Amino acid sequence: MTHSAILAAAGLTPADLSGGTLAVRSPIDGAELALVRETDPAAMPAIIARAQTAFHAWREVPAPRRGELVRLLGEELRAAKTELGALVTLEVGKITSEGLGEVQEMIDICDFAVGLSRQLYGLTIASERPGHRMAETWLPMGPVGVISAFNFPVAVWSWNAALALVCGDPVIWKPSEKTPLTAIATMKIMDRALARFGDAPDGLCQLVIGGPEIGAALVASKAVPILSATGSTRMGGVVGPQVMARWGRPILELGGNNAMIVAPSADLDMAVRAIVFGAVGTAGQRCTSLRRLIAHHSIRADLVARLVKAYASLPVGDPRKAGTLIGPLVDTAARDRMLAQIAKAKAEGGIVHGGTPVTADVPQGAYVTPALVEMPVQTETVREETFAPILYVMGYDSLNEAIAIQNDVPQGLSSCIFTLNLREAETFLSAAGSDCGIANVNIGPSGAEIGGAFGGEKETGGGRESGSDAWKAYMRRQTSTVNYSAKLPLAQGVRFDV
Ligand code: NAD
Repeated sequence: MTHSAILAAAGLTPADLSGGTLAVRSPIDGAELALVRETDPAAMPAIIARAQTAFHAWREVPAPRRGELVRLLGEELRAAKTELGALVTLEVGKITSEGLGEVQEMIDICDFAVGLSRQLYGLTIASERPGHRMAETWLPMGPVGVISAFNFPVAVWSWNAALALVCGDPVIWKPSEKTPLTAIATMKIMDRALARFGDAPDGLCQLVIGGPEIGAALVASKAVPILSATGSTRMGGVVGPQVMARWGRPILELGGNNAMIVAPSADLDMAVRAIVFGAVGTAGQRCTSLRRLIAHHSIRADLVARLVKAYASLPVGDPRKAGTLIGPLVDTAARDRMLAQIAKAKAEGGIVHGGTPVTADVPQGAYVTPALVEMPVQTETVREETFAPILYVMGYDSLNEAIAIQNDVPQGLSSCIFTLNLREAETFLSAAGSDCGIANVNIGPSGAEIGGAFGGEKETGGGRESGSDAWKAYMRRQTSTVNYSAKLPLAQGVRFDV
């Protein structure tokens, strides 16, 4: 399919693709796909006001009815899965099955949120006073600003929007300036769900397009009480304090530097498969990509030899072609950063396998072979997140040492251990184990299911999205005490007779 056929199949019209100043290029071949119109910063107050008006209506709609809108969204996403998945591939460079997988994740969170819309449970709490009832209720909170990163251009919106909508909150979405097309196509899918729903308020789901300055309007506005921001730790370090300074609630999903410990008892065949998918899948451009391998000294050489062999046969190239496993990096700047980090690691004593640009038999994008870098110790370069397929390999003697290396980075998103030893596995998951938001046993660090709460600690930002009770971040908690007696006793036995 040509680029224009993919764009048209996803519902994008010539008006969507022209008349603006934001150039969108495909990482596949660098072709300009569109000149998209950016949102005028001066329009932001009116956009936020519309969301506030929508909130006043939407918060009164019963939650199971709000769930119906999300059910319809799930249906529309199912119908559009192939076309939207192909657009993700075109705009971000993901291989076909990962483009489709991203849309499947959107469908999954819709299903989860529909069930949730009948389960926004509060508590009844035992009161210490006779004739009193205490309860805790969850109530809609207000418009949610969603700022998303390029690498999951549509799934991150759906994690937030599906929950926010059932929780009674409108959503204003600012996608990455690198990926406005998938966002426009997604809004058209949402519009179809809204049309079928019938009576949702105007301004319930809005899209704004542009760079940080458009995001900044959401960050600054007191009328946007919740701001969910996904992206680099640098961005979160700016946005988080600004939201808190105006007493808003940030949900921060930032960078990761995810590790795998491979113990002597590990099933190495399984570990190799998990390492390769974790480190090179999505060309190393997942927040949960595997970036550090901490292998026991007794198996390290064997493991590295197997990985070097596996890496040598990995098909790099056009992500639309059947059989390709590694597509392009998002742009040449990402490739240059990767090469610069490899050079730094080499200067710190690293032994480098792979990590070179690929130009033969590929279109004109930023294609690279993934890099394996054997490091003498965990240096400053290793402790930084580089958004590219670089896997640093280090050794260890004792499990405590391995856990210490695993935790000794600023980020705290995802982690895992490969072991068949129960004591090691449980220690890794214990209070003295991994300090990450996600910790797996005999599974790689990436590819989380939507049923669990997703997010990480330390410089990953501390936010949680998606499953479990992550919905609570989109609601306000109200504790109420009802006195159905004819007396007015005070708590803690305090006497105040008037
Ligand atoms: P980025 O930080 O460059 O941009 C992310 C978004 O933030 C974009 O929409 C951008 O316009 C916006 N932004 C940047 N500065 C801003 C500001 N001052 N005010 C308001 N908005 C601002 O990140 P990226 O390159 O698009 O994505 C890669 C990064 O995202 C990696 O660090 C990756 O680990 C992280 N990420 C994290 C998760 C997670 O769930 N933890 C998921 C995906 C990506």
